[in-house]
Formats: sequence, structure tokens, C-alpha cells
Amino acid sequence: MAAASLGEVIWVIGIVAWYVIRYPFERRARRVRIVTGYRSRSDIVGLASALFGLAILPAFYVVTGMPAAADHPASVWAVALGTIIFCSALWVFRRSHKELGRNWSITLEIRERHELICAGPYALVRHPMYTSFLLMGLGQVFLLANWIAGISGLIGFAVLFLLRVDEEERMMLENFGPQYRAYMEKTRRIVPYLY
Ligand code: SAH
Repeated sequence: MAAASLGEVIWVIGIVAWYVIRYPFERRARRVRIVTGYRSRSDIVGLASALFGLAILPAFYVVTGMPAAADHPASVWAVALGTIIFCSALWVFRRSHKELGRNWSITLEIRERHELICAGPYALVRHPMYTSFLLMGLGQVFLLANWIAGISGLIGFAVLFLLRVDEEERMMLENFGPQYRAYMEKTRRIVPYLY
């Protein structure tokens, strides 16, 4: 199989695995009462951008081969690197979901008996799930041999992250006060020890 097609097949498997990890949490979230919802228009825009860049646009490329003008040569090394990065994204994604458990929400929400989680990946960074999106976007760059479909994941992630992170931290501070402030002092946002 040509490197370009191999990269596409691996990307598709990765996206399916992503949804298999997410699905049980979506189901469970429906049963946990929301105490305060902070869903804003900007958050919906952020989520839509991430969905578009990390899933819809690359899926369109894999199915149609368009925009072919943005294709570039694929290499088996890039595909191997992309696979490693995408697998590590899935691992971080799964670990963060397991740790957040019933506190998880697709948008900004405080749930009944919401607990502040500071363990597992949350001991290193405050937003490991966004770290996993960043890694997914990076994996996509190496797996898809197309400038537009390759880079769109990172752009979608950046829009979601920039529109959401301050608001999310403000929400957590409002609800967990000094506990969250102390947690902020011990952790970085998405890159351990750096940012
Ligand atoms: N930003 C986190 C969580 C994303 S899910 C991450 O990237 O891993 C979004 C929901 O998680 C928010 O609605 C918030 O209620 C919840 N949340 C975020 N950080 C949390 C934490 N440390 N403990 C418990 N819940 C948290």
C-alpha cells in the first residue's frame, strides 16, 4: 500500500477509536444532572471548529481526495511518526476521560456533586483532554499528505482552545475557589512543565 493511503487508513482507524473511547462517557453524561451550564455561543463556535478541522474536513479529503492541489508527497517515516503521535493522543484522551469520570461534559458545565480532579494526567496539566486534541492535530499533519486536510486539525483545536480555556478556568475558579487556585499553581495548562 502506498504511504499516502496507509496514512489515511490509520487516520480513519484512529478516529473510530477516538469515538469508541468517547461514546460511553457521552451516554453516562446524559444521566448526571447539570447544576450550572456555561454553554455560550463562543463555546459552540469552538466545538464546531474542532469538529470541522479534526474530523469533517479530513474525512472529506479521505473520501474524495479533494483538494488534490494541496497534496504533497507522503513518506513512510511521516506516517510512522503520525501513528505514534496519534496513538499517544488516544492514550491521553482515554486516561483523561477515565480520571474525569462523571465530571466530564462536552461543554462548560458543573454537574451535581462535581469533584475537582487533580490526579492522573490532571496532576501534570489542567487540560489533558486538550493536550490530546493537540496531539491528534499533530498526528493528522503527519498522517495526511495534504497541506489543507493535514493542518486543519491544529487550526480547529487552536480555535476551540483559545475560545474556551480562559472561560473554563474562570468557571472552575468560581466553583472551586481556593482549591482550584492552589491547583493552578501546581500545574501547567496543556504541556507538562512548559505551558
Ligand atoms: N479541560 C479539561 C476537561 C475538558 S471536559 C481537559 O482538557 O482535560 C470539560 C469539563 O470538564 C468542564 O465542563 C468542567 O466542568 C470539567 N473539568 C475541567 N477540569 C476539571 C477538573 N480538574 N476536575 C473536574 N472537572 C473538570
